Amino acid sequence: MKQRSKKIRTFYTDQQVCFDNIQNASFSKSPLKPYLLMQRIKEKKYSSLFLKTDKFEPFKKSDFQLAHTKMYVDNFYEGVGNYRSNSLPWSKNLVYSVGYTNAALYEAKKYALLHPQTVCFAPVSGMHHAQPNRGSGFCTFSGQVISALKLYDEFGVSGAYFDLDGHYGNSIEDSRTYCPKLNLAIPLGCNINPSGYNESYIQSFQDGLNHVEELILADKIHYVVFAHGADSHADDDIGGGCDTKHWLLCAEIFAEWVNAISKKIGKPLPVTLALFGGYRADNYNAVLDLHLSSLATIAKVVCGQTQVNTTFVFQHPPKNQRVAS
Ligand SMILES: [Zn+2]
Repeated sequence: MKQRSKKIRTFYTDQQVCFDNIQNASFSKSPLKPYLLMQRIKEKKYSSLFLKTDKFEPFKKSDFQLAHTKMYVDNFYEGVGNYRSNSLPWSKNLVYSVGYTNAALYEAKKYALLHPQTVCFAPVSGMHHAQPNRGSGFCTFSGQVISALKLYDEFGVSGAYFDLDGHYGNSIEDSRTYCPKLNLAIPLGCNINPSGYNESYIQSFQDGLNHVEELILADKIHYVVFAHGADSHADDDIGGGCDTKHWLLCAEIFAEWVNAISKKIGKPLPVTLALFGGYRADNYNAVLDLHLSSLATIAKVVCGQTQVNTTFVFQHPPKNQRVAS
């Protein structure tokens, strides 16, 4: 079997970041998160785990219209009607950046399909609550739906999502009627959103892995996306699900599963990673460090990076010990 590439190929350009009005005027820092995470990677000296691709084309209106009404797409671009249904401060910079965030996920998934030995990463959030005619919950467009539809058209492949954000990713199910081809691109039962707390969360995730494994072995699923949202951590401001030990365990379980299934099918399973949610008003580095620890675990277990430290010290006070600000 082909050896895995050592580095995680990362689809990042500053153009996928919205710098306007996010730091001070937005509850969600997600439009800034790609930039903040890349900075954190440098600070923590983890750059050697990643290989950056920064040249790719942004999505156009016609791409967004694969999963959204023309009216909603036009409203968002022009700043009229329901353009703020995503609950984010609107700016031209936000419009510009979402073309790149959504394209980053598509490009990462496409690269992973064409080069399955390479684990790909799109440092993006803000996609899994959007609906055909509106944004929702800090999400503007359904990037995971659009990328799946495009890859189905181009390669006839179907994918599965492991959405470990702390909130249910409704975009996929809410888009099935509007774009019926999605039932082929992401078959029913392949939008895995674990639920529960600690042991029961892990069990729910494991059930999802087992289900998708059967479909992969039957050649019905050809790639997977792992979105390890940091708001499934118990200390998140608006999420919950796992304490640190169990949250980190999810990354390990996923990584070991990828290796095991790849062995069973005799080739590397195409894997793409994404960020999704994570909210801490007191210390955003806690969110970034969770994401980084998950990525480092994948780099170590799947990519075979031997010199990687995955033992993070989380020195951030948990929710019940924080001083109210
Ligand atoms: Zn969330």
